Amino acid sequence: MGEAASPLQARTVIPLADLRYAAQRPPVPRDAPPPNGLLSDRLGRPLRDLRISVTDRCNFRCSYCMPKEVFDRHYAFLPQASLLSFEEITRTAAVFAAHGTTKLRLTGGEPLLRRHLHVLIEQLSALRGHEGQPLDITLTTNGSLLARQAGALRAAGLKRVTVSLDALDDNVFQRMNDVGFPVADVLEGIDAAVHAGLSPVKVNMVVKRGTNDHEIVPLARHVRERWGAAVVLRFIEYMDVGASNGWRMDEVLPSADVRARLAAAFALEPLPPSAAGETAERWRYADGRGEVGFISSVTQAFCGDCNRARLSTEGKLFLCLFASEGHDLRALLRGGASDAEIAAAIGLIWQQRDDRYSELRGSALAEPGSGQRRIEMHYIGG
Ligand code: SAM
Ligand code: SF4
Ligand code: SF4
Repeated sequence: MGEAASPLQARTVIPLADLRYAAQRPPVPRDAPPPNGLLSDRLGRPLRDLRISVTDRCNFRCSYCMPKEVFDRHYAFLPQASLLSFEEITRTAAVFAAHGTTKLRLTGGEPLLRRHLHVLIEQLSALRGHEGQPLDITLTTNGSLLARQAGALRAAGLKRVTVSLDALDDNVFQRMNDVGFPVADVLEGIDAAVHAGLSPVKVNMVVKRGTNDHEIVPLARHVRERWGAAVVLRFIEYMDVGASNGWRMDEVLPSADVRARLAAAFALEPLPPSAAGETAERWRYADGRGEVGFISSVTQAFCGDCNRARLSTEGKLFLCLFASEGHDLRALLRGGASDAEIAAAIGLIWQQRDDRYSELRGSALAEPGSGQRRIEMHYIGG
């Protein structure tokens, strides 16, 4: 009807039953030919990066991701039987690797809450890419359990880690994680990750104007002085992901402004991208004390290079962070499909992909409505 969504509508969360319904799609033909070699989507983008959500649960309630008033004690998280097992994840990842995926990122929810995660990492470490190369295996965590797990994760084969940290000031940080978790414990987790050789450790700060933007320079200074080049701080624009965080454009601080504030405090020099499909624009401190990155998915969309797919906690394949539908790979895994049939399904799905939400953001094509409900980030995997 052309009416603006009320704040209540904007914060409506998708009930789990509906979410499962939204994640259904017609069955993929099981007799399709297996894809030959490397996959490319309708916009010519390869499939290089698979993000795997190992749990939809989290011990934080960051307001921009899992706001407390929605994800309360009545919220129905997935039952254990719905989750892909480690064997199912590893089998799926092997098929992806055989068809061009070189990088695996474990995420969630909070991945370190998944019991025995190091066992999954050991299994994934044994996989090889399509040219026989080891895979780049990494993990995104809120850091709360990292101090005690970093060594075991490294020993299991984890190469790198990304830790989310939105402020240095304890009051600001505790307000943002909304469970009163102290910043000191996350800093200790980063220390442990550096010590374990999970380097370079990346630290992600989601910047919300009016909430933590005054923490940009203090956090950058702390990271520089405490860890130097061993830790790369990256600033992420606050995104309109999911349907429950009440996102508003006026709370987004564009990366250009973040960089200007940093440049007023430190001399910065631009760096070239380190890899194709790199999401962060890289800069280094002119005095050699490390680098920083800017991830500008709102003000400078990078869909043109997006080579990422996401495997949800219960085995749905999503082609975009802002997708409203996924493809049920678990049904194939549990329904007796062979690896060749699973490969064929993934090939067909990827070859039909034309998602580019961030480029279309604001246009009618990207407007929520007519069933275009977005999946929450903790489920789809950040
Ligand atoms: N729990 C882990 C963590 O926080 O690192 C992994 C999952 S979390 C969903 C993955 C990343 O998504 C985190 O770096 C988090 O800050 C980021 N994120 C979540 N909601 C976001 C939003 N609305 N805008 C931008 N980044 C967001
Ligand atoms: Fe949990 Fe990560 Fe989401 Fe925060 S951003 S609520 S730590 S999943
Ligand atoms: Fe990739 Fe979708 Fe993000 Fe664009 S909006 S970069 S297609 S995940």
